[in-house]
Amino acid sequence: MSAQARPRHAPMTQFPIVDGELMVGGRSVSALASELGTPFYAYDRAVIDTRIAALCAALPDTVKLHYAIKANPMPALVQYMAGRVDGLDVASGGELAIALASGMAPAEISFAGPGKREAELEAAVRAGVLLNVESAREVELLAGLSQRLSLPARVAVRVNPDFELKSSGMKMGGGPKAFGIDAEAVPALLARIGTLGLNFEGFHLFAGSQNLRSEAIVEAQQLSYALALRLAEHVPTPIRTLNLGGGFGIPYFPGDTPLALGAIEENLAALAERSSRELPGAGLVIELGRYLVGEAGVYVCRVIDRKISRGQVFLVCDGGLHHHLAASGNFGQLIRKNYPVLIANKAGAEVTENTTVVGPLCTPLDILAERLELAVAGPGDLVAVLQSGAYGFSASPRSFLGHPDPCEVLL
Ligand SMILES: *Cc1c(COP(=O)(O)O)cnc(C)c1O
Repeated sequence: MSAQARPRHAPMTQFPIVDGELMVGGRSVSALASELGTPFYAYDRAVIDTRIAALCAALPDTVKLHYAIKANPMPALVQYMAGRVDGLDVASGGELAIALASGMAPAEISFAGPGKREAELEAAVRAGVLLNVESAREVELLAGLSQRLSLPARVAVRVNPDFELKSSGMKMGGGPKAFGIDAEAVPALLARIGTLGLNFEGFHLFAGSQNLRSEAIVEAQQLSYALALRLAEHVPTPIRTLNLGGGFGIPYFPGDTPLALGAIEENLAALAERSSRELPGAGLVIELGRYLVGEAGVYVCRVIDRKISRGQVFLVCDGGLHHHLAASGNFGQLIRKNYPVLIANKAGAEVTENTTVVGPLCTPLDILAERLELAVAGPGDLVAVLQSGAYGFSASPRSFLGHPDPCEVLL
């Protein structure tokens, strides 16, 4: 393939380059590495702010923005987000504790996820957060807990829709799924919720994740809204919240283009207007994880060794798959593709050398970049993996092979 024909990464301009150094949070990556040691994750508040400001300018005032903390549950970052979004979505008792400690009002926290244990349900009822129920078992357990605690549980029904979010990196609705209640079974469950005296608040639909096609997101939002409207005929009490999910993606791989918000903005405005008439009193919510924080994070490791094997340059680093499973290509990708990677302390230099960047693990899966054009580098240089603010530190098998943990900083 010629250099022109090979797809390139979308331009990533969130971190400036000053004197040949990549800058994160106003500091050079070299200075951060000297101070923190390597490897590390750094998250830049200013990049998060820019993203949230652009999104808030695009969203209708009546649509609430939630942060799904699964994307990055670092407590300092969640606390930062709590002051900037309307609500937090959690998916475990551990995440619930982080969300409650963040300062976000419990009324604006919701808890989804299959297989909630009884202790998790109890903690959620005691805290007064909204439970997105995913099974009949959860409904029955919540009825018992509500009675025992004299505290009626707040519930929304997570619906497994009868459609999919097209072109998603990960599909989480449509067909047989472990998530939510099949749409056709929802009316009977709503009747049961009414009989049991739980506080019914609405619906939660989440069709999929990591989507870069606005038409697909618009279609999923329209279908989700239409499904909620049909199910509204069976609700025990009026809908107060309708969570339409998210799925907004970010560009990771060569050829990916950033999500365009225009059509989504128009669609949400139209849906907000319709819901004010058709579902009066219902607030619309979207819940986003990686779109809010993914581009604000960088993973940095140091080159330990440079080897040439049968003509191929290898940089062997002090970090890899065990810290950043997704960048290694082993977190749900079918075909391994390179994340955007650069030599952070030579960020101004020409990229002239075809390089494979690997970690220190004894497995051929431990790859951070494969045959990517990089600046010529060797021991001591710093490798930066961009788009690493979501599904990095917390989504990696950090005890695999017994290397030390990376540190995490919010700048
Ligand atoms: C994972 C998840 C999210 C966040 O997905 P992103 O791709 O990070 O935006 C939101 N809602 C639910 C229910 C999820 O499971």
